Amino acid sequence: MFEYAPAPESRSVVDLKPSYGLFIDGKFVDPADGGSFKSINPASEEVLAEIAEGGAQDVDRAVRAARKAYDKVWGPMPGRDRAKYLFRIARIIQERSRELAVLESLDNGKPIKESRDVDLPLVAAHFFYYAGWADKLEYAGFGRRPTSQHSGAYPQPLGVAAQVIPWNFPLLMLAWKIAPALAAGNTVVLKPAETTPLTALLFAEICQQADLPAGVVNIVTGAGETGRALVEHADVDKVAFTGSTDVGRAIARAVAGSRKKLTLELGGKAANIVFDDAPVDQAVEGIVNGIFFNQGHVCCAGSRLLVQESVAEQVLESLKRRMAQLRLGDPLDKNTDIGAINSAAQLSRIRELTEAGAAEGAQQWSPPCELPERGFWFAPTIFTGVTQAHRIAREEIFGPVLSVLTFRTPAEAVEKANNTPYGLSAGIWTEKGSRILWTADRLRAGVVWANTFNKFDPTSPFGGYKESGYGREGGRHGLEAYLNV
Ligand code: NAD
Repeated sequence: MFEYAPAPESRSVVDLKPSYGLFIDGKFVDPADGGSFKSINPASEEVLAEIAEGGAQDVDRAVRAARKAYDKVWGPMPGRDRAKYLFRIARIIQERSRELAVLESLDNGKPIKESRDVDLPLVAAHFFYYAGWADKLEYAGFGRRPTSQHSGAYPQPLGVAAQVIPWNFPLLMLAWKIAPALAAGNTVVLKPAETTPLTALLFAEICQQADLPAGVVNIVTGAGETGRALVEHADVDKVAFTGSTDVGRAIARAVAGSRKKLTLELGGKAANIVFDDAPVDQAVEGIVNGIFFNQGHVCCAGSRLLVQESVAEQVLESLKRRMAQLRLGDPLDKNTDIGAINSAAQLSRIRELTEAGAAEGAQQWSPPCELPERGFWFAPTIFTGVTQAHRIAREEIFGPVLSVLTFRTPAEAVEKANNTPYGLSAGIWTEKGSRILWTADRLRAGVVWANTFNKFDPTSPFGGYKESGYGREGGRHGLEAYLNV
């Protein structure tokens, strides 16, 4: 085991203000009733900034600004001009990526290695990708503008999009929402999660820097009530939500019977299936990436390991050896693999579920791991002896906790993998191409990775089956959610 000297990234690159207003109609403004809340650094519990809490009146103001911008500027603007703004935003994100990555790690608790090398490159790539579509919507497969040679429907923007996102990938979820919406000609009001609003507010500054017309992007901060006011506002045409299945259900009920189009990206409980012929070392890296990336705060995390019985012992031995090398601690240290849990509330949810796992008879194991005194932390953990009836096999833990189950035949693996109300993602590890295809064909999951895990690309659609939601983000499919086709 190597000893690593501390290698902290400097936080001086971030210019944190003591307080932030709401971003409405191109300006930062105070909320109507003056409410606010604090955003803290989950690794130290230090208050980072005071954030405006938007109420129904502020939401209304933001929706009006978005409507005006849609009618007067953004809706009528030719796609090639919208593309120029999106390319400009993408380039500014790249130029300011170090600042954005440090701010993301401060506010969210994720390791700088991940915000710098995963989140930020993907955020920029998303804007570049959808910028490319803005003037080519006619070629996206949803119909062409009528000419003297042919008639028929062609894709039109929806209008004002209300977007609500979670805290696990704050800026990346913003990019997944805003880039396709703007490319398709819509304007947006976005509500970031209450524990991670800071990168969305820096993004608002980037919109100003890019000279994006006022009202095209509005950011209203606040908690669940602010989100509810936004999705229930009568003048939004589209609701896009990423978050928990319970809130997704409430939103589906709230918009039912209205003209609003809805996409939901919800929870998951993915199976990562390791067959007996899989290369063990490679599979172990995939298992670690699948569940310990971003502290396991990943909707598509490989949180259920299904390993073939004949190789279970060998895989678990290698996995434990590998887990003992994971470094937990300061998110800003470039050597850190596992950062802080995003909030006290999330930490208590992880604790509740792991206690249930132990009480129901599964065996809990973590490598020796010293947790910092301040902040919210949870050691990487695996449970063996898990049955399908255990809560830790059924409920989303959303933390660095892996439930291990075994199987004997491919058919049993598929049955166990699909035995969940969710259906967001899955992983398959085997040397045999035919087995990959056979298994993938039978898995009810929106994304299936083979001999890899947690790979994302803006050109590839992402989304769920069953209680993981509906609609797709990313790729050509992601445009459809923001177009009348
Ligand atoms: P959450 O549902 O509690 O909150 C998500 C967002 O919704 C937050 O901004 C919150 O303020 C807002 N909100 C809460 N109540 C609301 C209401 N009644 N109306 C409107 N908005 C409301 O979820 P969370 O704890 O922030 O995020 C974790 C969940 O998100 C996990 O279940 C995870 O699987 C899921 N997730 C899914 C994806 C995906 O793409 N499928 C991606 C990331 C996270």
